[in-house]
Amino acid sequence: MKKVYDVIIIGAGIIGLSTAYYLTQKGKKVLILEKKEIGAGASSACDDMIFLQSKKPGILLQMALESLEMYKYLSKELETDLEFQTRGGMILIENQEQLRIMEDFVYKQRSYGLDVELIDKRDVKEKQPFISDRVIASTYSPIDSQVNPFRVMRGFYLKSLEKGMEIKKGAPVIALKKLSDGSWKVLTTENKYYHTRVVVNAAGAWAAEVGKMVGIKIPIKPKKGQIAVTEQIPCLGETNIWDADYIVTKLIPALAEKRGRILSQLGIGLSFTQTHDGNYFIGGTREFVGFDSKTTYQGISNIIPQALKFFPVLKNVHIIRAFAGLRPASLDGKPFLGEVKVKEGFFIAAGHEGDGIALAPITGKIMAQMICGETPSLPVGELSPDRLLDRQEVMNKIKLDRQEVMNKIKLVK
Ligand SMILES: Cc1cc2nc3c(=O)[nH]c(=O)nc-3n(C[C@H](O)[C@H](O)[C@H](O)COP(=O)(O)OP(=O)(O)OC[C@H]3O[C@@H](n4cnc5c(N)ncnc54)[C@H](O)[C@@H]3O)c2cc1C
Repeated sequence: MKKVYDVIIIGAGIIGLSTAYYLTQKGKKVLILEKKEIGAGASSACDDMIFLQSKKPGILLQMALESLEMYKYLSKELETDLEFQTRGGMILIENQEQLRIMEDFVYKQRSYGLDVELIDKRDVKEKQPFISDRVIASTYSPIDSQVNPFRVMRGFYLKSLEKGMEIKKGAPVIALKKLSDGSWKVLTTENKYYHTRVVVNAAGAWAAEVGKMVGIKIPIKPKKGQIAVTEQIPCLGETNIWDADYIVTKLIPALAEKRGRILSQLGIGLSFTQTHDGNYFIGGTREFVGFDSKTTYQGISNIIPQALKFFPVLKNVHIIRAFAGLRPASLDGKPFLGEVKVKEGFFIAAGHEGDGIALAPITGKIMAQMICGETPSLPVGELSPDRLLDRQEVMNKIKLDRQEVMNKIKLVK
């Protein structure tokens, strides 16, 4: 008799693994099919931040706050040290225009319950003794946190294995077929078939390719991010750092012109964060260059001066390496979570762009709830995949259904 899994997850990034973990906790029989290795995509080529201040007030901020609560207990639950730490975060402000916009942003975030405030130049200096004089103010949140994504993936992976999860690595999914009994047949390159009741597309930046296999257009594109890594050095300040320039431009795209051609073209916004081991990550770019995930001289050489302008002391520090990853960027900046109505049993958990590490626990939990037919613990209706799928596809499906009905009528006649 053929083996039928409860759920097949496509992609062993942090989102696929988190979903597997929460599903196996509910007793589901799960298989992960991964085209390369665990963490072969963005989840091993990223920063490590649970950065709440960057989230627009709304469901994403709500999810990030919930995820943060979950991370506090996850090391214990997964019996793995996730290197979770809460150092706080600051977004540096350089001029009055940025200050006005950030004031409004902070006000809205506070109304959503985020612990964040604006601090003046003197307080900035106190928290960041090496900061340059160009900073006039800053936001400050004591709860911005970080975690090691490699360890999170390992924790989810090992605990899911304990609960019976199976995984096939080096197994790219190339076709999906819905069978007449409602189950799915999943084909990988080695001509192997697997059967399942539910498929979860957790293929990150490649989610659109998987969507094509079932005939739907998923508006997710790869957005490259490049990061330079310093040698291990002592901590330069109390918190991790971002600059307001990028956040402000994201909120008011018309201001992008003022940033200069290269910064705009590469989508550079400074993130300056220290890992558990003492290396600083200097990021990053936000580029739409297809699936090219190589670092470039132009990218790295334009990122580093952004950190130097705020921390001149860095001129004596060695850059030891650089890396790049592909964020899964959706058309409206929000992930797709849930079942595709016109493809029963086909779920999407992808499109987290620059938030996938922060949102992984809550995403996995909510996906498991939805797949098991439970009400999600947060109201994620606006993240439903049906919001952006190509209307034409839906129309085609409706036409097909109509045609099927007509054919049946003909048969009866
Ligand atoms: C430079 C950079 C910095 C970032 N910083 C942060 C940060 O500080 N905080 C934060 O929260 N987020 C950050 N992110 C975003 C975060 O890394 C992503 O949102 C997250 O890793 C996405 O996880 P995922 O599992 O959806 O995708 P991925 O990790 O990309 O996993 C998708 C997996 O699917 C597999 N796959 C694809 N197609 C197939 C197929 N056909 N068959 C089988 N397998 C397939 C791939 O091989 C891959 O392993 C950053 C990203 C980048 C690039």
